[in-house]
Amino acid sequence: MSVQDVVIAGGGVSGLSIAIHLRILGAGRVTVLERYHAGAGQSGRAAGILRALVNNSPVASMLLESIRFFESFEDRFGQAIPYHRPGYLLVSRSPAAGAMDRTIASAGAAGCSASRISGHEAAELQPGLRCGADAIYAYEPGAIHLDPMMATQVLARVARGLGVRIEEGCQVESILVENGRAAGLGTAKEQFRAGKTVLATSVLGAGQLRELGVEVPVFPHRAEMAFFSVLPQSPFRLRRILSDATTLLYMRPEGSEQMFVGWREGDRIASPEDFAAVDPENYRQTSNYATLADMQARLSATLPFMNDGFVHRTYACVYDYTPDGMPVLDQAASVPGLYFALGYSGGGFSLSPWVGSVMARYLCEDVKTAELEMLRLARFREGAAVSWSNAAAGDKE
Ligand SMILES: Cc1cc2nc3c(=O)[nH]c(=O)nc-3n(C[C@H](O)[C@H](O)[C@H](O)COP(=O)(O)OP(=O)(O)OC[C@H]3O[C@@H](n4cnc5c(N)ncnc54)[C@H](O)[C@@H]3O)c2cc1C
Repeated sequence: MSVQDVVIAGGGVSGLSIAIHLRILGAGRVTVLERYHAGAGQSGRAAGILRALVNNSPVASMLLESIRFFESFEDRFGQAIPYHRPGYLLVSRSPAAGAMDRTIASAGAAGCSASRISGHEAAELQPGLRCGADAIYAYEPGAIHLDPMMATQVLARVARGLGVRIEEGCQVESILVENGRAAGLGTAKEQFRAGKTVLATSVLGAGQLRELGVEVPVFPHRAEMAFFSVLPQSPFRLRRILSDATTLLYMRPEGSEQMFVGWREGDRIASPEDFAAVDPENYRQTSNYATLADMQARLSATLPFMNDGFVHRTYACVYDYTPDGMPVLDQAASVPGLYFALGYSGGGFSLSPWVGSVMARYLCEDVKTAELEMLRLARFREGAAVSWSNAAAGDKE
């Protein structure tokens, strides 16, 4: 048996960020239990895009804080997380002009520098771009992307350097509850007893909580993506993070010839309840051919040079969607001492540094900021879901 101050299930960006911030705030013994290796879940497979152009100022502010976290990471922790700053180019259609302007204004109120640009300027930013006459564009120069597995692994190293114990290959099998309070986590090897217990197990966390009678609306959704490549002799490359509301695709450069391409899932499905049933522990890990062919056709509509491109490799992953596309950050009312940070809905890389800092304050100092309160579990039954999606202007990928 091991006695901890805080034990965290899940070694993705969420669990690791919470662990790092706990140690920064002076928490004592902090342990992360990860059933595989750090980043084995969604974190290692993300696109790793961080941008703040969303139509909700508090959310934009959280995103900007996360961007600053990665920008200042090396100065702060002495280890680099390399990132690229190609900027974020958003394409939509003229009927969405008002929504795009409101998005720019909301994000701008939080300090995000983004503006409408002309088709000519867009084509200069991304040579080879061809959108219809009614296309409209916004550009956020400060947006970045990073290698998600590299970032997760550096977070794990930094966490260890700060004194966090990370047990990999360590499957959590039970949440210990004593006298109505969470008392730690049980694994096949040993019990990790702790005053505070955190679940950062993404889509699996909902099932783990359900066993204790705590219902958290996190729905698994299988999403498909692909790396496409141009031929070496092609004069064109993807130069920007590009989110295209007209084709429902988003993409970012990957090395010199490739690009990561995914679907703007939030725009494709109206409600998480519409998602096809998927077993997050057993699903097909590559794209279907038909989806891929559709993806390449759409990609080539906006970037005609991709007619000569090819699929380099594909994969599929399960997202953890909530009804409003924002995570649920809370303590279980019926099991004091049991905290959870789940349901990032495809945006966890951009939010987890901010989540780590507010959850650590909640755990260490019992401080619930207004933004943390906004993401409480009860918001769904209280009719206080976060309103921030805007399909036309571009929101989550
Ligand atoms: C294809 C794709 C592209 C994405 N692109 C972006 C992007 O560009 N920008 C962005 O902000 N976000 C993006 N995301 C979302 C982002 O990756 C996730 O929101 C984020 O990684 C979630 O982090 P997490 O730590 O909550 O979950 P995870 O990384 O899934 O970590 C949870 C961990 O818990 C572990 N676990 C589960 N059960 C147990 C157990 N019983 N015992 C021990 N360990 C357990 C798992 O093995 C896993 O490692 C993308 C996601 C995908 C799939």
